[in-house]
Amino acid sequence: MDGRALAERVRADVAEDVRRLGGLGLATVLVGDDPASHLYIGMKQKAADEAGIRPLDHRLPADTPEEELLALVARLNEDGDVDGILVQLPLPEHVDEALVLRTVEPVKDVDGLHPVSAGQLLLGRPTLVPATPLGIMALLDEYEVALARKRAVVVGRSNIVGKPVSQLLLQRNATVTVCHSRTEELERHTLDADVLVAAAGSPGLVGADMVKVGAAVVDVGQNPTDAGLVGDVDPGAAERAAFITPVPGGVGPMTIAMLLLNTVRAAHFRRGELRFPS
Ligand code: NAD
Repeated sequence: MDGRALAERVRADVAEDVRRLGGLGLATVLVGDDPASHLYIGMKQKAADEAGIRPLDHRLPADTPEEELLALVARLNEDGDVDGILVQLPLPEHVDEALVLRTVEPVKDVDGLHPVSAGQLLLGRPTLVPATPLGIMALLDEYEVALARKRAVVVGRSNIVGKPVSQLLLQRNATVTVCHSRTEELERHTLDADVLVAAAGSPGLVGADMVKVGAAVVDVGQNPTDAGLVGDVDPGAAERAAFITPVPGGVGPMTIAMLLLNTVRAAHFRRGELRFPS
């Protein structure tokens, strides 16, 4: 499943929508100097810019007091030029991450991490959903992978990938099993999966012989190793799977495309063109 090709198409569609809307703004907030975070923010800003979404860059030193960060988010909430707010994680230890995330106005929560966003998803009435799960679903749909009545297994239960993708699969009538670090005999679950989403952050966790023949496999893992970026799934699984995402070039590009799509969706909510639950 080619994430680069689909992401390119999504981004072209987003650019057209943004032109119609007369330009949008995406505020990014980066605290500290984590190199990976800098890389991700740079990629997101470049993609936004290319789609006609103005990236509004906010970078703060690692020792920024929590109140200062909260005050910045509050200003961005009020700023009419800001359609979406993205706070890059992780935040420094002295900052209450959950507090910062719930300070973001839900209507601008393009990362989908506010409790309102998470709650709406759980209730089956999603507003803004995290970008990676949206990208996973878009890839499965693009390749017409059947979900209803199928067994879906998600490895990982993070708020940003595992939990939300489980909800989206459930809403599409898959029978969903969520595995995690305390799951015993992981292969008993993965071998049963018609659709397998691996999001554990553990290189090669899912061996080729842990994949059901004919399954659709989405490898979310992005693990830096001496041999470069590798996923959570042994690439040898391609021999057994009907569909599999490469790393890199699978879920990664889709995540960025879906962030842009979320920014457009947020703009529609704010302009009243889509109804935002009050
Ligand atoms: P996380 O560390 O927050 O969560 C990992 C989850 O995997 C946990 O729920 C844990 O219980 C589970 N897990 C860990 N080891 C396990 C094991 N041995 N067996 C079963 N479950 C296990 O990570 P995250 O933020 O969800 O990210 C997961 C991976 O996805 C990472 O490699 C990350 O880099 C990658 N990621 C990629 C994208 C993308 O755009 N491609 C986006 C987000 C995350």
